[in-house]
Amino acid sequence: MATNRTFTMIKPDATGAGHTGAILDKIIKAGFSIKAMKYTRLSAERAGQFYAVHKERPFYSDLVDYMSGGTIVAAILEKNNAVEDFRTLIGATNPEEAAEGTIRKLFATSIAANAVHGSDSDENAQIEGSFFFSDLEKF
Ligand code: GDP
Repeated sequence: MATNRTFTMIKPDATGAGHTGAILDKIIKAGFSIKAMKYTRLSAERAGQFYAVHKERPFYSDLVDYMSGGTIVAAILEKNNAVEDFRTLIGATNPEEAAEGTIRKLFATSIAANAVHGSDSDENAQIEGSFFFSDLEKF
């Protein structure tokens, strides 16, 4: 995957609250194009694998329960400077600290249920995209 791509998930709190369309609209209007998208659900095992980097954190089991507790939308997005620009669009991890107008400020309810994921590096965008889309090289 090229460095103009990032990976996102719309998380269970946001899909469950009916925010999927509004969040996708914000993403598209911010200039990202959707290269691949999947409406799916993570098992607890797969959620644990995705967030393995946080295994030692006190919130790990809550995070796994939450991320496997409902529908998610996984997508690969393309734009110049995608990783950094998408992190700006979603805002800080804790919605109370997120800037006005960001997706987390608008739609997140807590630091745990924070509406969206965005990769934090080009390398992780590649790894995380491959976690959901096995045929990445085709698009
Ligand atoms: P991100 O890169 O902004 O998503 O933040 P992190 O990589 O630090 O954390 C990954 C995810 O774990 C966050 O998006 C939250 O869903 C969750 N998380 C982070 N910090 C906390 C916390 O203190 N408590 C709980 N319950 N969840 C957290």
